Amino acid sequence: MERQAVHRAREAFLSGRTRPVEFRLQQLQALQRMITEKETEISTAVKQDINRSQYDTPLLELIGIENEIKLAVDKLKDWAAPRPAEKNLFTLSDEVYIQPEPLGVVLIIGAWNYPWALTLVPLVGAIAAGNAAVVKPSELSEYSSLLLRALLPRYLDKDLYPVVTGGMSDTQELLRLRFDHIFYTGSSTVGKLVMEAAAHHLTPVTLELGGKSPCYIDKNCDIRTACRRITWGKFVNCGQTCIAPDYILCEPCIQGRVVDCIRQTLLEFYGADPKCSPDYGRIINQRHFNRVMGLMEGYTPVVGGQSDASQCYIAPTVLKDVPPHSRLMQEEIFGPLLPIVAVSDMDDAIRFINEREKPLALYIFSTDKQATKRMIDETTSGGVTVNDVMIHYTLSSLPFGGVGQSGMGRYHGKHTFDQLSHHRACLIRSLGMERVNLARYPPQDRRRARRARMALKTPLIDMSKRTLIWAIAATVIGCALLITLLIVLLMAAGLYCTCWYWRGFYY
Ligand code: NAD
Repeated sequence: MERQAVHRAREAFLSGRTRPVEFRLQQLQALQRMITEKETEISTAVKQDINRSQYDTPLLELIGIENEIKLAVDKLKDWAAPRPAEKNLFTLSDEVYIQPEPLGVVLIIGAWNYPWALTLVPLVGAIAAGNAAVVKPSELSEYSSLLLRALLPRYLDKDLYPVVTGGMSDTQELLRLRFDHIFYTGSSTVGKLVMEAAAHHLTPVTLELGGKSPCYIDKNCDIRTACRRITWGKFVNCGQTCIAPDYILCEPCIQGRVVDCIRQTLLEFYGADPKCSPDYGRIINQRHFNRVMGLMEGYTPVVGGQSDASQCYIAPTVLKDVPPHSRLMQEEIFGPLLPIVAVSDMDDAIRFINEREKPLALYIFSTDKQATKRMIDETTSGGVTVNDVMIHYTLSSLPFGGVGQSGMGRYHGKHTFDQLSHHRACLIRSLGMERVNLARYPPQDRRRARRARMALKTPLIDMSKRTLIWAIAATVIGCALLITLLIVLLMAAGLYCTCWYWRGFYY
């Protein structure tokens, strides 16, 4: 089944029908139509999967996909066009450019927590770049996976973009096949398996992984607003968001206030019993429920802590004074538990972050601009948002991805197009002007070698349209100035001669 789908996708790719930009635009518009027409079905499927509010799915997933489609439709002609490149003296009269071209068949493996965005955003880039794509949604978000499998062939080319559903063994089966790129979203553990399988065929990979994203609250900030924003980011989707703030770092003197503000905000968002709130989700399955509950063992939460295994419900929970070496601080939480770790100051927070794996996201809450800049300069992460959480994800202009253990490669907007394209180096020259080449041919002597070296060592010359316009404008202005100067000189010489003549006459 998987093998056939991949084979059909490759055959369809080799037919060449994805090459024209018009075809890609038409597929992207069809995908847009699917989202518009099936919004309710999609939101219902996610509700069945993780009990996410009907209102949240358009906000958290669909609008993002639509923005990506719109951007790709608007910009595709520019993105896919040849990109002029700088030249040296040897290649001055040649045509030199970078041509983005499709890679072939891309495998997109998605995770369950945002089942639509994590499969369709990469798909938008794959279509835009002219690839075929095999989409493998997560088996854990079963309703969404089945709906995606039913919908996609109704709107898009059936052979080019098949959806393969199934469990872990089916994904492993897929990974044994040959692809031209693998785009994987999920845990770091499986990420390593994906990379291992890809290495077998020398297939490049994009790994969108997870990790522990720290959130530092400086004592110089509006703690109430900071906590409202953090509470939203942490507990939306029941804490199952890759860029959710995983834990808080703050000085002991503000810890109590932080807890109070989060408690107050939770009451505002989900009422006295979050279990009854239509806006509060559930853990994806029993296995993850047990895993998250296990992380809490041995701690007494200061907020929440209640659970109901029959519904995979865990209340929004806050734990304070969590020891840095506890289990809670070793692995990604990916659930509604928010530990607070006390640090003595910002230096201590920076040290804490740098001693651990490079995170997918870093959040800093502070009104002190210098302190914020210092923290950005002295740490690293896939992305960073200051005085809010997760918002950097919403901008297609910013590359989204991890660093180190939190992933490799980047996407969103043009970054996805570039990630899923081959950037072909093209140089086209004529057979004329052979004298220019003599310096590189044997037999070599000192003079020839010096000439060749000089030509090769010249700095690269930017021959883009803009530079050419500037160069022409500068030449025209230069010539005009030179001519004016010549005229002035001639007039001055004429005046001088006339004076000379009249002086002789007078005397
Ligand atoms: P998951 O269990 O749904 O797995 C993801 C995909 O991997 C699925 O399609 C599944 O079929 C496949 N898979 C699972 N086990 C496999 C195996 N042994 N061999 C081959 N394929 C296998 O999702 P998950 O891993 O639980 O996802 C949660 C993780 O994903 C978290 O760490 C989270 O931070 C991360 N995540 C990252 C991003 C991001 O954009 N960086 C987004 C969402 C989730």
